[in-house]
Amino acid sequence: TTEVYYDEDANRSFIDDKTVAVIGYGSQGHAHAQNLSESGVDVVVGLREGSSSRSAAHADGLDVETPAEAAARADIVSMLVPDTSQPAVFEAIRDELDAGDTLQFAHGFNIHYNQIQPPEDVDVTMVAPKSPGHLVRRNYENDQGTPGLIAVYQNVSDEAKEEALAYAHGIGCTRAGVIETTFREETETDLFGEQAVLCGGVTSLIKQGYETLVDAGYSPEMAYFEVLNEMKLIVDLMYEGGLGGMWDSVSDTAEYGGLTRGDRIVDEHARENMEEVLEEVQDGSFARQWIAENQANRPSYTQLRHAEENHDIERVGARLRDLFAWAEEEGESEDEEQAE
Ligand code: NDP
Ligand code: MG
Ligand code: MG
Repeated sequence: TTEVYYDEDANRSFIDDKTVAVIGYGSQGHAHAQNLSESGVDVVVGLREGSSSRSAAHADGLDVETPAEAAARADIVSMLVPDTSQPAVFEAIRDELDAGDTLQFAHGFNIHYNQIQPPEDVDVTMVAPKSPGHLVRRNYENDQGTPGLIAVYQNVSDEAKEEALAYAHGIGCTRAGVIETTFREETETDLFGEQAVLCGGVTSLIKQGYETLVDAGYSPEMAYFEVLNEMKLIVDLMYEGGLGGMWDSVSDTAEYGGLTRGDRIVDEHARENMEEVLEEVQDGSFARQWIAENQANRPSYTQLRHAEENHDIERVGARLRDLFAWAEEEGESEDEEQAE
């Protein structure tokens, strides 16, 4: 079984006398920088000249330099700009990485698919909270933790894992628990999960269910509530108690219908497609496609995004969320998150 690391397994002396450059001040960057700083670690934020994030970092009381200047001061450079921007940002900071410094990531994409080739004399590690950044920050402020992963890709100092654990402690992850993985495993499972199940699979299931009902003459509003709105309630039950917790909470009729029909919807054909999607992640063809898409200025991404925005379920949903009270509360809390 996998070992889980908690606060008592982390030794903060591996980070307490070091300087961390947090490059980027977005979702992850603002959380790592503030949590580390409040944990007593010396933090400098790296942002390009004219960056729209500069005022936020200054307002939070942090020291801001360019990425290269921040990296020059730092022992640990935490690369927290978007994955597609990281190769260019790496070029700007690579000369500032001294022997024995650490280049750190929160996702393995650029290392695993060779988009960044780090110098051989630095440690390369990952500390990846399994959560959006605003929750990493909010949990820390509420004396709670956020589960996370650590991984070591290069270990020249012989202390890379201890340092990653100390960093995970500094951002509050060891409060909840941290497990060790590899860059390959984190990257491939993360991409597969978001493509096949979490983002891609679930939205397709919702859209097909919605279209099936509406095409059969049912009202779009009923269809929206049934296949999208209720999804959250069902997922919350699984999150709390696994599949069994969900089955226990729904009616016997829902349980019998679901158990007899579910595998007919997501059938062996879907399973074969999942295996194909996994192969494209493993053999690098998805990564090559996404890199080429970015180099071409994202033509199909833009088009697919536009089509998704114009799906009927989005218009119906926007109208219903305006009319009903539950959406107002969530909309407000989202605004608060943005402001953080
Ligand atoms: P964001 O999109 O939130 O990062 C935005 C920040 O990066 C801004 O400060 C922006 O500043 C800066 N930035 C963007 N482009 C550049 C550039 N070319 N040069 C310099 N700075 C730039 O990133 P995330 O926090 O979402 O992701 C960071 C890393 O964390 C990624 O590796 C991601 O995979 C990983 N991760 C993200 C999670 C999440 O929930 N978001 C969860 C776990 C891991 P500016 O104003 O100058 O554009
Ligand atoms: Mg340095
Ligand atoms: Mg992910």
